[in-house]
Amino acid sequence: MVNAIVGANWGDEGKGKITDMLAGEADIIVRFQGGANAGHTIVNKYGKFALHIVPSGIFYDHTTSIIGNGVALNVPKLFEELEDLKAKGVPSPRILVSDRAQMVMSYHILFDQYEEERLGKHSFGSTKSGIAPFYSDKFAKIGFQVSELFEEDSLMEKIERVCDTKNVILEHLYHKPLLDPKEIYRELMGYKEMVAPYVCDVSLFLWNAIQEGKNILLEGQLGSLKDPDHGIYPMVTSSSTLAAYGAIGAGIPPYEIGKIITVCKAYSSAVGAGAFVSEIFGEEADELRRRGGDGGEYGATTGRPRRMGWFDVVASKYGCRIQGTTDVAFTVLDVLGYLDKIPVCVGYEIDGKVTTDFPTTSLLNKAKPVLETLPGWKCDIRGIREYEELPENCRKYIEFVEERIGFPITMISNGPGRDDIIFRKK
Ligand code: GDP
Repeated sequence: MVNAIVGANWGDEGKGKITDMLAGEADIIVRFQGGANAGHTIVNKYGKFALHIVPSGIFYDHTTSIIGNGVALNVPKLFEELEDLKAKGVPSPRILVSDRAQMVMSYHILFDQYEEERLGKHSFGSTKSGIAPFYSDKFAKIGFQVSELFEEDSLMEKIERVCDTKNVILEHLYHKPLLDPKEIYRELMGYKEMVAPYVCDVSLFLWNAIQEGKNILLEGQLGSLKDPDHGIYPMVTSSSTLAAYGAIGAGIPPYEIGKIITVCKAYSSAVGAGAFVSEIFGEEADELRRRGGDGGEYGATTGRPRRMGWFDVVASKYGCRIQGTTDVAFTVLDVLGYLDKIPVCVGYEIDGKVTTDFPTTSLLNKAKPVLETLPGWKCDIRGIREYEELPENCRKYIEFVEERIGFPITMISNGPGRDDIIFRKK
């Protein structure tokens, strides 16, 4: 059985916590897209961790964690995270890396920085982890696959070819130091040494695991609205954030994906530039940011303050639909306990007309939020484990959201810990 855990919004919905929790029942957890550009924050008995590339199921000793072919593999980051886990006493994690995964090169990170610098005020707000240059090279067919590390004879010739094109851009567009092919070769050989013990034919491994009836989780990064096709293009990430891509980025048959658990946050937050219709500002935003998540809404990778907003029915309904949601996990609901009244964005007004259908970017940029206000519950709901024990106004908030988005909320997360969860039978 294969289940996917993905985001409905702009990322940072709490997928890491849901994956860490559901991984208790899983045999294998697979990262299938993205790279070290977004982080999952996880709190459990070993401490607090910001994972960027290691799958969130790493904390159990019965699970195998996999970096799928769709991931932008930052080898030094992977090893840094594994070292940190070891230092904090997490039992030796079992990890496999796809022989078809491609590697983020040091020059991808430089190109990301140079391009953001060049764009100045038109920059994307990139995390500068090299993700866009990495995926551009992958599809331009000048990326380096893990399997190529073991083809030392042909490697140098390819490196020289890649350096030729990169150096033209470095010299004439960015006016920066040029790449030395010998340096790049050394970099790759360093990666080879680090990654060799973990390399695996992942699609075959997963095929066999599926035949044996193993329980597999696909772990998504970011959320629907950052998908390059279906998100707020061009303010998106560079690999698909959708559950459907799990089949490609892990190398499994699409029909094997059963449950699609879409994580949806009880309010909105976003990092980077781009339209954000329900965004709030000033003291109202500062207070939600301070109280949000577990210790404030600041980027797990960059430490940047996140942009804040009220729950957005239009974006979330679309975000859930485009994922193919079977179950919604509604998270960080506890954070809203301080509010007397809770505004919810229930529609977008575009050119004088109200819609609940999420539009393409040019229309989205013109959208104004239509707000409806629900009564708050004014208490701490952490520690509650039964749905019926939640305050009435809290249940009303959940049921209002559920009705408007049109997908069943079967899990409610009311705290950052593994046990802070309410299962709801639907
Ligand atoms: P992810 O990338 O989707 O995993 O999200 P992040 O890890 O960036 O952001 C989620 C933040 O909220 C983390 O700090 C989590 O520890 C925290 N978190 C997750 N679920 C809950 C919850 O139900 N309540 C609270 N208060 N914090 C939560």
